[in-house]
Formats: sequence, C-alpha cells, structure tokens
Amino acid sequence: MAKRGKPGPGSIEAALLERVKELGCLYAISQIAQRCEGSLDAILQEVAGAIRHAWQYPEIASARIVLDGRVRAQAGKGPRLHTQLAPIAVRGKTRGTVEVIYSERRPKSDEGPFLKEERSLLEAVAGQVAAILEHEEAESEKRALLDQLRHADRLATIGQLAAGMAHELNEPLGGILGFAQLARKSPALPAEVAGDIDRIAAAALHARDVIRKLLLFAHQTPPERMPLDLNRLVEEALQLLHSHCEKEAVDIRLALAPDLPPVVADGGQLLQVLTNLVVNALQAMPNGGNLTIATAADARHALLVVEDTGVGIAKDVMDKLFLPFFTTKDVGGGTGLGLPVVHGIVTAHGGSIQVRSKVGQGARFEVRLPLRSGRSVMEAS
Ligand code: ADP
Repeated sequence: MAKRGKPGPGSIEAALLERVKELGCLYAISQIAQRCEGSLDAILQEVAGAIRHAWQYPEIASARIVLDGRVRAQAGKGPRLHTQLAPIAVRGKTRGTVEVIYSERRPKSDEGPFLKEERSLLEAVAGQVAAILEHEEAESEKRALLDQLRHADRLATIGQLAAGMAHELNEPLGGILGFAQLARKSPALPAEVAGDIDRIAAAALHARDVIRKLLLFAHQTPPERMPLDLNRLVEEALQLLHSHCEKEAVDIRLALAPDLPPVVADGGQLLQVLTNLVVNALQAMPNGGNLTIATAADARHALLVVEDTGVGIAKDVMDKLFLPFFTTKDVGGGTGLGLPVVHGIVTAHGGSIQVRSKVGQGARFEVRLPLRSGRSVMEAS
C-alpha cells in the first residue's frame, strides 16, 4: 500500500520495502516461537528486538512487552511520544500488551504516525507472543505434573519399604514388650532391675508408636470412615492444644465455614492430621505468631487449612517434606514422621495436600478431602 503524502513510483518502492520488513519481522518471530529456547524472558527479549526494526521509523522506535503487570522485555529506550499497542490474550484472558513506542514526532498517518499495516503486524505479533506463552505454560505444567508423579511414586516405594519393615519389627517388639512386662511382675526384683525393665518397656512402647506411624504413612491402617463435621474436629483438636498455644504466645485465629457438609472420614486419623500440622506450626513459631485454622468447601471438596506466620520452609526442605524420618529439628525435637503420617492419612482418604511457604513469613498447609469418592494426589509447591 502506498503511504499517504508520498505519491509516485518512489513511494511504491518504499511501501514494498515496508512490507518486506514486516514480513521479515513475522518470519523472525515465528522462528523464535518455533525454537522456544532459553528462558521466557530471553525469548520475549528476542521478540521485542525483532519488532522494533519492522516499524517505519526504526531509528526512533522502541518495543516492549508487558505481561501480568510487569515489563518482561524492552528493546530500545526513549520518551513515549507515540505508542501503538496490542493486547496479548492467552486462553481468552488478556495478560498484557505488546507496544511500539516512538520517541519523536513524525507525520500523521493511519493511527497517529503509525500505519494500519503496522497495526495488523502488531496484532499478529501479540498473537505469536500469546502462542509462545501458552506453549511455555503447558510445558511447565507438564514438568510440574511429572515432578508430582515422580514424588508420589517415590513416596509409594518408600511406603512399601516402610510397611515391610514395620511388619517385620512389630513381632519381635511385641515379644520384647510382653516379656519385659512379665519380668516386671517377678517378685522381689531389685529396684535397679525393675527400673531397667521399665526403661525397656518405655523404649519398646516408643518404638511401637514409630511403627504405628510408619504403617499410617504406608496406608496400612485402613480408615474407619463415618460422616464427620470438620469444624467440630478443629474445636476438639484445639481443646487438646489450647494451653500449648498459650504457652508459646501464639494467637489462634479460626475461620470455620458455617454449614460445612460432612466428610466421610476416620475421625481419629483426621485428628492426628490436624494435630501434626498444628504442632509443626507451633514449632515453626518459637517467638510466637499467628496460627490460622480455616475450613471451607466447594462442590467436590472440603478444605482444611493450617497456616502459621513462622520461619517458613526453604526450597530444599520443601522437596523432602513428606519423606519419612526427614526432620530439620534437633535430636529429640522431631521424628520426621509427622508429615509422612499426614500424607498417608490424607491420600488414604482420597484427598490431597498442598503446601505454600515463603521463608521468614510462614507456611500454609491445605488439605483437600473429597466430599464424595476421589483420587489420590499429592502436591507440594
Ligand atoms: P518433624 O516435625 O518431626 O521434624 P515432620 O514430618 O512433621 O517431622 O516435618 C518435617 C520437617 O518439615 C520439619 O522438621 C520442618 O523442617 C518442616 N516443617 C513442617 N511443618 C513446618 C511449618 N509449619 N513451618 C516450617 N517448617 C515446617
């Protein structure tokens, strides 16, 4: 198309050159999109670089890509005298804009100093950027899903191992406990021996507790399900933990949804879930803080949230959170079985757990339980 104000054969040539530049730009961007190499920011930067040269006045043009309220790429700088922009729509939602900016005045054309062909080009570029984003997001969702599957698979294998070990140990342990109790009943035991036998029995009881937790983690303790009010469960757990919270200078905030539909679950096991999460939250706030326990429901799930304002969870800890015997606490401070037990119980109920945390700001554990039957999923983020 000939440019306004410049009739004659020269301008046809110039217009053709413009079209060639525009096609070159689209081709370059489609190549970048096809390669999709490097980080998203690097790809967007390449796109911004390619756009800038395709406009009629490249010497005063800069280009930028804004995504989710943040400038993600910028090629060239200068005052924003004229701007042409096109929205980036990903899956029907506007996520940002692609912009071309002129830093100086230029003669008026179709849209300020911009050509209508440049408008079409900008919209095509915005479409390409949206396609790149969709591709990147689908890839990262795929990666996260694979990670989750691997994690779940690893936990299942460890669960089988743990269950095997627990069964093997249960029997000799029963023997130790039984014989210790028998020996304790012998008449005229010297006090020292009686004390030693008590210690044997106490150690065997502790070991039995560890094994019970391992079996819970490995879903070897089938839940005894009945309809249950999650809000009542929270109140019950708090009765047990209230004085502990007061001692730790922790402020408890409850946000319990009224009219919560009942979940079909094992009350004892869910109480264990809540207790483990609350104890961890309290231990994460050695200098006090806020503990929030919330319940909610959507069409398919009941939600139980335990949130603290404690030390938070670092990325390397997050990756190992649900592994049995993983603990960051001092010897005697933790067994590393709290969260594996939570995980075992929740998955046995067909539910899922999601963890979010910012180091120094706290952690949030979200347990989802199906209101009807559901699949087992584990998510950690
Ligand atoms: P334990 O509490 O015995 O260490 P868990 O399995 O319950 O075992 O927890 C494993 C680890 O996860 C803890 O040692 C701690 O590092 C981390 N953790 C769990 N809950 C929280 C929390 N609310 N805030 C910070 N870290 C946590």
